[in-house]
Order: sequence, then structure tokens, then C-alpha cells
Amino acid sequence: MIIVREVQAKTILSVSKIHDYVVNPYTGCQHACSYCYANFMKRFTGHKEPWGEFVDAKINAPELLSKEIMKKKVGNVWVSGVCDPYQPLEAKYQLTRRCLAILAQHDWPVVVQTRSPQVLRDIDILKNAKNFEVGFSVTTADDSIRKLFEPHAPPIKDRIAALDTLHKAGIRTYAMIAPMLPGTEGLIQLLRGKVDYILVDRMNYNNALSIYRQNHLEDKLTEEYFRRTAKELADECANAGIECNIVF
Ligand code: SF4
Repeated sequence: MIIVREVQAKTILSVSKIHDYVVNPYTGCQHACSYCYANFMKRFTGHKEPWGEFVDAKINAPELLSKEIMKKKVGNVWVSGVCDPYQPLEAKYQLTRRCLAILAQHDWPVVVQTRSPQVLRDIDILKNAKNFEVGFSVTTADDSIRKLFEPHAPPIKDRIAALDTLHKAGIRTYAMIAPMLPGTEGLIQLLRGKVDYILVDRMNYNNALSIYRQNHLEDKLTEEYFRRTAKELADECANAGIECNIVF
């Protein structure tokens, strides 16, 4: 059960450590990934519900962005940092769509990051924008592993099919193999021809430790495993002619 609230945000175009700015049209995320680092947002926003069981829709996000974009220096905008901008509620609220339209209208560079093929709804904006790119988090090639760690996020094959559609439409695309989950064998071949580059990262897996333990996957949590897997992924990228950045 998800508790949805419509809220008025105070700001929307926030300074980010990863890119120049970040836009989060929602607080909370229906995808509820087990390892999600964004669940620290609960502390900041006073939410008592478990991560994944609340979403605040910032219904004034587009209006705020229209004002803030006039006052700030142009910079790269990350959509989004602590929520999936294309979680299911976006079908109803269209906050991400309206924010992207404003950013495109002002020619700001944008990096969209999602796990959802719902991003295809906005392909009209994405392909006409001057400097937009779209990335999917593709954490494993094995959908049974995906179901363990990301049960409420879309299947891996749907994410890769969406990357294919976007890439064929002439949009710059990337895949984030992050956090690296077990079962990445064969993933680079699946991504071949569908992305311009790949990022590989590990994250804080503390929130997902019980899933590793229950499924006897602890051997996939060692320093040696991460180093070896990242090297294998980088080698496969080199063979496939895909730029690969290991960022840990
Ligand atoms: S999609 Fe991203 S923000 Fe949403 S729960 Fe998963 S990791 Fe967290």
C-alpha cells in the first residue's frame, strides 16, 4: 500500500554533487529497491512509513522550475537523484514530463536516469532536446535476481528494450550497472548496440544484506568479487567497442 500526498515544494532545482543540479519531482519511490540509498530521505522529510510505501508528489514542481531556471546559471541537470522520475505515479502526475519540457525549452543539458520504460512516453521531448541523455539502471542480466532485490521495478528485458528504442531514435543512452548485483554474465552482449556508454559501480549494500544471506549470495559481496566482475565487464565492453567507466 502506498500513501500518496500532493505537496508544495519550496525549491526544485537543487545543487548536486553528482551533476550541477538535480530535480526530484517526487519524494519517495514506488520501486522500493531493497538496497536503495535514497531511503535516507525518510529522515529529512519526517516520513515514518517504510521506504517504498510513501510518495510525495511535488505538484508545483513545473511552476517552480520555470521560475528558478530564469535565476540560475546553466548547468547539467540530473533527473532524478533520490526517486525514479518515471515511477508509476508519473503516469498520473506528469511532473517529470513537464519539468523536462521546461529544461528542453531553455536548452539546458539533462541526464535522465530511470528503471522504467515509462520514459518512452516522453520520447517526443527527449529526441527534440539539444543535449539530453537517458540512462537506465540495469543491475543484473538475471531477472530472478532482479526480482529478489528490485521486486517492484520493471523487468530487465523491458529496460533494455527501452534503451534500444531510445538509441534508435537518436537519443544518447547509457546503462548504469549499479549497484552491481549477482548475475551480470551476458549483460554487455544484451546492451550491445543500445547504449553509448556504460557505468559500473557498487553501492552500500547494507540495506540488502538479509536478501544476500537468505539466498546464500554472500560470496557476491566480497571485494574480490566486485573487482573481478568489474574487470570482466570492462573487458567485455572493450571487445564490444563500448566505452566503459568503472567508478569505484
Ligand atoms: S528506483 Fe532508485 S530511487 Fe527508486 S527505490 Fe530504486 S534505487 Fe531507490
